Amino acid sequence: MKSDAMMQIGELAKRANTTTKTLRYYERIGLLPPTVRGANRYRLYAPEALGRVRFIRRAKQMGLTLDEVTTLIVIAKQGEGKALQKQLKKILSRKIRETEAQIQSLIQFRQDLQTLSAQLDESFLAQCNTCGALFANCDCTTPAPPKHTRAA
Ligand SMILES: [Zn+2]
Repeated sequence: MKSDAMMQIGELAKRANTTTKTLRYYERIGLLPPTVRGANRYRLYAPEALGRVRFIRRAKQMGLTLDEVTTLIVIAKQGEGKALQKQLKKILSRKIRETEAQIQSLIQFRQDLQTLSAQLDESFLAQCNTCGALFANCDCTTPAPPKHTRAA
């Protein structure tokens, strides 16, 4: 049957919607060993490899690192559904905390930008008309504003 057929790397990449380069990288880091090496040393993959690649890509989309994906795959291979669930929960909890920290950091950054923007409108050049004292205690030599004196 066709669906039981071994795939070469190009076909696996195509079916998993990724590149052969990515698959070779997964192989290098131990995530996706080829099922067998064919006669001419071609990599051959069993149909299950497609599920593995899709899992890796989904996990990466969720923001998991390849180390975390490796951990999950090792647990999954041991056939311990509960352990897998527990580990995934742990990883996702950490991701949620990290995301919350990033949101806080972005809110602070937006506030800094808003403060700076407001100063541009109001008092930016009051302290230094060269750099607006953007950097505290600047040592700009502030040129005197041009004087327009009318010849008598
Ligand atoms: Zn200055």
